[in-house]
Amino acid sequence: MEESRKRVVIVGGGFGGLEAAKALDGAPVDVVLIDRANYHLFQPLLYQVAMAGLSPAEIASPIRGILAEQKNVRVMLGDVTRVDLDERAVVVGNERVGYDWLVLAIGAQTSYFGHDDWEVHAPGLKHIEDALEIRRRVLLAFERAEREPDARERRKLLTFVVIGGGPTGVELAGAIAELSRFVLGRDFRAIDAREAKVVLIEAGPRILPSFTPSLAQSAVDQLQELGAEIRTGVRVVEIDDRGVELENGPSADDLPGLGDGRVRERIGSATVVWAAGVKANALAQTLGVATDRQSRVIVGNDCALPDRPEVFAVGDMARFEEKGNVLPGVSPVAMQQARYVGKIIRWELESDGRPPREPFSYFDKGSMATIGRSRAIAEARGLKMHGFIAWLAWLFIHVWYLIGFRNRLAVLLNWTWSYLSYKRGARLITSTGWRPNLVAEQAEQAVLSTRHRPVTTASDDALHRAPSLHEAARSPELDRRTSRAATPTS
Ligand SMILES: Cc1cc2nc3c(=O)[nH]c(=O)nc-3n(C[C@H](O)[C@H](O)[C@H](O)COP(=O)(O)OP(=O)(O)OC[C@H]3O[C@@H](n4cnc5c(N)ncnc54)[C@H](O)[C@@H]3O)c2cc1C
Repeated sequence: MEESRKRVVIVGGGFGGLEAAKALDGAPVDVVLIDRANYHLFQPLLYQVAMAGLSPAEIASPIRGILAEQKNVRVMLGDVTRVDLDERAVVVGNERVGYDWLVLAIGAQTSYFGHDDWEVHAPGLKHIEDALEIRRRVLLAFERAEREPDARERRKLLTFVVIGGGPTGVELAGAIAELSRFVLGRDFRAIDAREAKVVLIEAGPRILPSFTPSLAQSAVDQLQELGAEIRTGVRVVEIDDRGVELENGPSADDLPGLGDGRVRERIGSATVVWAAGVKANALAQTLGVATDRQSRVIVGNDCALPDRPEVFAVGDMARFEEKGNVLPGVSPVAMQQARYVGKIIRWELESDGRPPREPFSYFDKGSMATIGRSRAIAEARGLKMHGFIAWLAWLFIHVWYLIGFRNRLAVLLNWTWSYLSYKRGARLITSTGWRPNLVAEQAEQAVLSTRHRPVTTASDDALHRAPSLHEAARSPELDRRTSRAATPTS
């Protein structure tokens, strides 16, 4: 890295951050990519880890490895705890890293709509740790049911509730139903795993509201073929270790005065999974700029923060409005925005001053959701597909976009084997190290470690003092985070 060159700092090595780094390949600028994990996670296949279809290493790749050939990039493992917009620096542990351009791509986190206490009973699906915890709970429920003499208790153990009728909820509900019917059905003696009940709960009038009604209905039919029960128009009002409590009709907050006539109902369940909501990563709220109800940073049509043209926010953490529509939190949005930002930076590097920017424009290639083996829905530019054809398209696209030849091959082999044999190799019940508020705790740890050591100034070359992986591994505070991040295998 050259002393005199300008520097782009990218926070986050997910879909947006990684693409921004790649877009700057060969540009005359130093790029520093900072991520709290040492791997890029392919979140669309997380549910496969949760359902024992794949192992974590098959859907994650080390960021260093991905960018090894790109000479102008330096990868830094660390938690960014603060962004100093006035001083143009980000704080990572006890370091400050100065920037000329900043690309924030820190993604989203699970939202419990003010009920954070539900997390312990109903993990969300966002990190590898979440997926392993869900896998542990689902498999353990069958094991406990096998040994449970009381019929009522057994029923509860074999009832699985998925909250949230978006694509993730649908994928999870379909996958649990499939696991119980086709994979575990033959493995148990005292119970019939095929009798497991899967309930998908959605507060809105229908599941998959982002799809056209006919495709959403096809998803309902395909889920019902698998034996899943779909409950729409019901709200979750309580989750505890015995199950969930539901209320029909709209919330009293939505329609004041409409308190009467609502009926409450309890579903006994030992395994509840939350797929109902996300909000922007907590760091977004510390920036001191306008955010929306989901804590997303409101960006201009050039993906930059208002009055901070050198600071971009892309992907799930940003609210970008185009022709009156807010762009969805999906990977193509993050990747296209990141490529656009890369182009802007290249252009400004080569120009004198800051030339006017063309607004970002999103190219929507379509959307798809899988429901299970040979079951999916997909729509792209007016074309609608469902069933086996849609599933093939889904499979092809997900394998194609997985990073790394080894991962693609491993996933393809694994899926082919599972498809032909109805078996799943990753059916391990392991201790996961999962705890509610894991991410918040990690951030707190990083803040604590900042307080104990002096913060250096932006003018120092912070990068040369960034803890190496060796140093990080020796530090007890970082050790916990590094080892968790560095071992995405089960
Ligand atoms: C279960 C699930 C299924 C999904 N399925 C699909 C799908 O089928 N199709 C689709 O298009 N999209 C899907 N998505 C959405 C898609 O994954 C996101 O839209 C995409 O990941 C957004 O990219 P991003 O770069 O904004 O954030 P992310 O990819 O989430 O990356 C954020 C990165 O920032 C890092 N980070 C966060 N905070 C800090 C910090 N303080 N310091 C340092 N690093 C930090 C994180 O470690 C992470 O690597 C799915 C998401 C989930 C959770």
